[in-house]
Amino acid sequence: MDKKSLRDFFSHEQQDSILTAIRKAENRTSGEIRVRLDTRAGENPKQTARQVFDSLGMRKTALRNGVLFYLSVEDRKFVILGDDGIYHKVPPDFWDGVTGLVLDHFRQGHYADGLVAGIEKAGEQLARYFPRQANDVDELANEISVGD
Ligand code: CA
Ligand code: CA
Repeated sequence: MDKKSLRDFFSHEQQDSILTAIRKAENRTSGEIRVRLDTRAGENPKQTARQVFDSLGMRKTALRNGVLFYLSVEDRKFVILGDDGIYHKVPPDFWDGVTGLVLDHFRQGHYADGLVAGIEKAGEQLARYFPRQANDVDELANEISVGD
């Protein structure tokens, strides 16, 4: 799938709801959320998501609390990846509930709804461990990026 098809994977309306979910979540937490779409994740989706995380500069947050929702649309892989600050602060099963919720939607083919639900849920949990500060900065621009 080429870059343009990836960009068109979600309608404008769906992109808006995903970006709105990110903005709302970030209104409650200092955590920084992004979404990435790739064609294929390859042999090791976690490793691929980690490379994307690095290449997007997502480690550049003060509290190391960036979170990436990674989805590959042809081989249907999904990974949520959080930066080190999250793993130092929260229980290991932190993301299991979020991942389960997202996959429930994905199984019905509802990709945008799944991401929105997952982002909302992640936002609730992040708000507990990383509440938004009064002087919050949008450290990572809210975006849905696409792979090559
Ligand atoms: Ca922020
Ligand atoms: Ca942001």
